[in-house]
Amino acid sequence: MKKFWMIQFIILGFCLFQTGSANLTPPSDTFILNTSIEPGDDLFNYVNTAWIKEHPLPTNKSSYTTFTEVNDKTEDQLHILFDNEASNYTSGKETLIGKFYSSGMDTETINNQSITPIAGEIALINSISTKHDLFNVSSHLIEYGIDPFFSYYADQDPTNSTWMIPQVEQGGIGLPERDYYFRNDSETVSIQEAYKNHIKNVFLLLNYSESDAKEYAGTIYNIEKEMASSHYTTVENRDPINTTHIIPWSDLQSEYPNIEWETLAAINGSGYSDKINLHQRTVIEKFDQMVDSVSLEDWKIFLLYKLVDSLSPYLSEPFEEENFDFYSHILNGIESQEPRWKRVLTVVNSAIQDEVGKKYVEMYFNAEEREKARKISHSIRETLRERIVNLTWMSDSTKQAAIEKLDAIEEKIGYPNVWLNYSNLSLSDSYVLNVLNAGKFSKIHGPNGLDKIGKPVDRTAWLMSPQTVNAYYNPTLNEIVFPAAILQPPFFDPDADDSINYGGIGAVIGHEMTHGFDDQGRLFDKDGNLRDWWNADDSAKFQKQANIIVDQYNHFEVIPGVFVNGNLTLGENIADFGGLTLAFHAWEKNGKDVSKMSGTDNITPEQKVFFSFVRIWSGVARDEYLRSDSYTNPHPWVKFRANGPSFNIPEFYEAFPSIRPDNSLYRTPEQRPVIW
Ligand SMILES: [Zn+2]
Repeated sequence: MKKFWMIQFIILGFCLFQTGSANLTPPSDTFILNTSIEPGDDLFNYVNTAWIKEHPLPTNKSSYTTFTEVNDKTEDQLHILFDNEASNYTSGKETLIGKFYSSGMDTETINNQSITPIAGEIALINSISTKHDLFNVSSHLIEYGIDPFFSYYADQDPTNSTWMIPQVEQGGIGLPERDYYFRNDSETVSIQEAYKNHIKNVFLLLNYSESDAKEYAGTIYNIEKEMASSHYTTVENRDPINTTHIIPWSDLQSEYPNIEWETLAAINGSGYSDKINLHQRTVIEKFDQMVDSVSLEDWKIFLLYKLVDSLSPYLSEPFEEENFDFYSHILNGIESQEPRWKRVLTVVNSAIQDEVGKKYVEMYFNAEEREKARKISHSIRETLRERIVNLTWMSDSTKQAAIEKLDAIEEKIGYPNVWLNYSNLSLSDSYVLNVLNAGKFSKIHGPNGLDKIGKPVDRTAWLMSPQTVNAYYNPTLNEIVFPAAILQPPFFDPDADDSINYGGIGAVIGHEMTHGFDDQGRLFDKDGNLRDWWNADDSAKFQKQANIIVDQYNHFEVIPGVFVNGNLTLGENIADFGGLTLAFHAWEKNGKDVSKMSGTDNITPEQKVFFSFVRIWSGVARDEYLRSDSYTNPHPWVKFRANGPSFNIPEFYEAFPSIRPDNSLYRTPEQRPVIW
């Protein structure tokens, strides 16, 4: 079965090449260097200029990176799968993917129906006449995955990681994060105005008068702004201790009396817990006040807007275009929409990800590759263990606990052993109702579903689908996870030189492992509990080294006047530094013997490890995207992920003897942090 599909895979590559609809990655071992630049001044452009020239930013994207390139390839593979499923569905076979995808491609029906499929939900909101109704209806929306005031879901208790409890997290705002409502610079002010205009346009599409629409836009903006005033900043939200407030469920009603908490517990299919984690208490305090201070009529308008705005991408063209215009064009600078098939594929792929994932790995995943990746992962882990033993700044007792934590890290590669069973999900011919019903299914039965509340944690669950080009570390499970789709070039190529694979997937694996020991991860113990296992002196030393990294990244300028936020990106930067360090040393021990010089270029195997790393962080982006990305994304823009870590690693300077102190990225040994 798999062999057969692998032949399909090869034909697919050929077809794409012929039609020119996607560029194939050059052979993994080839680097076209930009010799007009010195690597010590800009390693990113030294390695990536050729790729950047070959990949002009498409009008329908805000950024295009190595990850986007691999993701596009994966979506082309899924496109074939989806077309197969759609034709199976048309010829009478019951298939969830086929039915869902076909409903999304049927733009004639979608446009004819406009908002009629959600008329029942709108009527429900209009019928609200008491505060009690307000909470019943908002809990009804939450059941479908539309959380109007704050996010509500199940996750592990950070103080008892074996158990799932309900979690409340800040939400309810339409702009990317709280500071968008309070900054006064001209770009932000114009985004605020554009957002109010967007809200107004949504009401105009719902056939409200110009004056009503304008008034409602002001009302909703003010509600969101007041909510945002209680939100934590992006940096505050990185602190696992300050975002954990576990209180008895029985205290909720007396502490926050205006909120009807029991309507949440009453959601059909929800489990029950005697505890709840309020990530940001200020948010709940504020909302509790606002329940009374905002009029019922204004709350109804707010709910109506949240319903329609979150469903607009699945409604008729005018709604979809309005949504695109604000969230994609104004916020991210994107000029045109992705083709319809890609938009629908993305939605279906995330709505029923296990159903798609199961078929994706059957068609495209090679289990032998998984074994090769496992070997690299094993050597990275061994390298980290040795390095912990040899650290000069850490005491023996903390080292002991660190090694116990390292040994306990669970590893998942490829795809889950257990798939979500969608047999209770029923779909119709309405695209938007399918999105709602799939949203409801995930809200109740997904990995963070409400049916998990009050139950022991399921260690087999995956938070990312196998067809995702990404990877993660989960601190409360103390696990690292590598979906099948990241095991592709340029990250991983089973036929490539070891230097390439260690600099690529090796650094990715090292990155995720280091997350267990970054400024956030180190606060969790080997069992995933928020518990301090450090002696105070070691903590202070760690902090001192981490501050060096904060300061280094604060100096990287993204676009004129906008700098990387060193505190927001600290965890990722520690992980990138650790990941590349571990990959290099693991390669020296396990792959150097069989690594070769590259082609005619006299690139040494050592240099190839670093080049391979820099290549996975290639990319181009629009200024609008870079601005919002810098404010909100805990990962710095790829250029700084390429230029930051290498210059902290002593072996990098040995591999590139031409790099001199007067190169702009050069750091003296005293300026280089030592962490893992
Ligand atoms: Zn990371």
